[in-house]
Amino acid sequence: TSFGFQEVPEEEKSKMVGNVFTSVASNYDVMNDLMSAGLHRLWKERLVSKLNPFPGMKHLDVAGGTGDVAFRILESINSVRRRALQDMSEDNLQEETQIYVCDINPNMLNVGKMRAQERGLGEDGSLVWVGGDAEALNFEDDSVDGYTIAFGIRNVTHIEKVLSEAHRVLKKGGRFLCLELSHVENPALKQLYDYYSFSVIPAIGELVAGDRNSYQYLVESIRKFPSQENFASMIAEAGFQKVEYENLVGGVVAIHSGLKF
Ligand code: SAM
Repeated sequence: TSFGFQEVPEEEKSKMVGNVFTSVASNYDVMNDLMSAGLHRLWKERLVSKLNPFPGMKHLDVAGGTGDVAFRILESINSVRRRALQDMSEDNLQEETQIYVCDINPNMLNVGKMRAQERGLGEDGSLVWVGGDAEALNFEDDSVDGYTIAFGIRNVTHIEKVLSEAHRVLKKGGRFLCLELSHVENPALKQLYDYYSFSVIPAIGELVAGDRNSYQYLVESIRKFPSQENFASMIAEAGFQKVEYENLVGGVVAIHSGLKF
């Protein structure tokens, strides 16, 4: 009250902060659903099914944002566990699963923590939220079984650094998986996609988020991102083996994968 402002009680304050985060999160989720017509859910499911998550695994999801990919990995592990529990005693399943969600933006992580709480996920400590930069990870060499990055690598400053960090922290035999907006080749589909991205996306951005420019930028950043083949070469240059990719919706998005031997 010393400056004539009304003191806001601690409890009230954290509720207000919480509301801001919730609205950021719900906006983010609504926009994802709107712009991809809900398809991002299927793409993330596909990413997780390629990972083949298992109980006891140490996994790192980079640019993990509000936890969308991490939650799916954990849910997949939980269902593997439930099935396995029917066949063996609980003692055999005591391995500690650990899914690290790493993001450079603490607000996204805070939203993620709240969402996890709401869903009752990770209460046993299996979800670990860490602030950090994909280009300089705070993880030991050879320390994780799997690495995912979904819609995160396109906007980093140095893609090569992100890839070499991914290679460094993975254990031998570990898999790198990247889900990213990519390039459509089929001419008819490309025409449709160009119309969608140059006309529809910025319009949705303006209508829903009141922000045309950011969505314009998003579309331009997709254009500038390396082609599927070039990105695959970059992954191989970082040291990964058996590099391959799968196009979804004709290349609107692609899932690249590589193994560390
Ligand atoms: N993976 C989540 C998903 O698919 O819903 C979030 C994707 S969101 C489009 C991109 C995220 O990348 C943001 O949360 C942003 O904070 C994060 N990010 C951007 N640059 C980063 C960096 N250098 N290191 C780690 N995270 C970064």
